[in-house]
Formats: sequence, structure tokens, C-alpha cells
Amino acid sequence: MPEVQKVVEEKELKEEVVQEAKQIEEAEIDHLPNWIPKTGMGKAIKRGKITSLEELWKMGKVIKEPEIIDYFVHDLQERVLKTGRGKRPFKWVQRMTDSGRRNKYSVMVAIGDNKSFVGLGLGRAKEYGGAIASALRNAKLDIVFVKKGCGSWDCGCGADHSIPVDSYGKSGSVTIILRPAPKGAGIIANNTTRDILELAGVKDVYSSTKGHTKTRSNLAKATFDALRSLSMIKQ
Ligand SMILES: [Zn+2]
Repeated sequence: MPEVQKVVEEKELKEEVVQEAKQIEEAEIDHLPNWIPKTGMGKAIKRGKITSLEELWKMGKVIKEPEIIDYFVHDLQERVLKTGRGKRPFKWVQRMTDSGRRNKYSVMVAIGDNKSFVGLGLGRAKEYGGAIASALRNAKLDIVFVKKGCGSWDCGCGADHSIPVDSYGKSGSVTIILRPAPKGAGIIANNTTRDILELAGVKDVYSSTKGHTKTRSNLAKATFDALRSLSMIKQ
């Protein structure tokens, strides 16, 4: 092999190695560098063996670490739903202990990336902050990917501004039907439902409800149930 060619090849090889190291480094920066996975699934993700949530869902695995969601879904926003009396962002739940009555905060948090991912979680704790943290964790572990589209006969634009088909959800006495709406219609729903639909990135939709919708927690769960049935991969 001529000396010049050898030098060129060595140089290329060196550049390749540098490039590869850079890519690994970038991947580390992009994702959660401080996360030390506790589960086998988490470790496989950190090693780059699993590259998407879709892959995990297809395997039918249950996600146990909320960091897995943070790893794959970026720009997640959270909203504490006003599920309490007088639109408070919490409910009181009481339980009897040996030392008497104890109150706990009960909160419901919805999360989403305003594009397709949406989750809903309930948290209970003695402290408000603890209840929020717990609800957030549960919302992440129950995240779904909502398939959107334009199922409106009045529109038919084919864009992802609404939902592709009617969708039905239920929780307790509350039932909800979400229907595709034309572009510009907005979200025709009450605040609790709107909060969740916005986080899921749905822009135009009609809704109708039945049952005791003043029980906001059931209304939120029914809305999420309807979105879950639109999710690409059913969990
Ligand atoms: Zn349309």
C-alpha cells in the first residue's frame, strides 16, 4: 500500500472515530445525562437498545420509570386540573387512622406536548406539593400517543387539526363523545375537557357529555379514556 494512501485512510478512520464519539456525546447531552436507570428497561434505553416509546408499547411492556417518558418526549407541559370544590385545584380526602381523622390532598394533573402525547395522573399526599409530584409521575406512566386527523365532513382538509373519527369515553356516571370538527371551530367543550384536549394538540373538536359532569375528576378521566381509544397503539 502506498504510504500516502495509508496516511489518508488512517486520517479518515480517526475522523470516523471522533465523529462517532461526538454523536454519542450529543446523544448524552440531548437526553437525560443525570438519569441513573433503576429498571432493566431503563438501562436498555440508556445503552441505546430501545429508541422509541412506540417500540416499548409494541413489546407490550409496562413502563415503571417516569424518566423513560422524559427521555423520549420533550417539551412536556403540565396542568393541575380544577377538580375540587369551587374549582380548587385539589380535593380533600379523609381517612381514619388510629390517631383520628387525617386529611390528604388529592390532585389530578394532565400532561402533554401540545402535539400528540397526553397523560393523566392522580396523586394523593399529606402535602400539596407531594400530591402534585405523585400525580405528575402517574401521568407520565400513563401517557398515550393520540392519533389525530380531519374526520369532519364539513372540512375534509386532511390535516391533523382534529380527530379522525368519533370517540367515546366513560368514567363513573360520566360519558363523553368527541366528534371531529372543521378547521376554526375550536374546542367546543367545558374547561376540564379543553385543558386535556389542548395538551394533546387537538385544535378543533365537538363534544357532548352525559352524567354528573360536575364531578370534574370523572369528566377528566372520561375525556382521557376517549383520547386513549384514539391512541395509535392501544395500551
Ligand atoms: Zn380539516
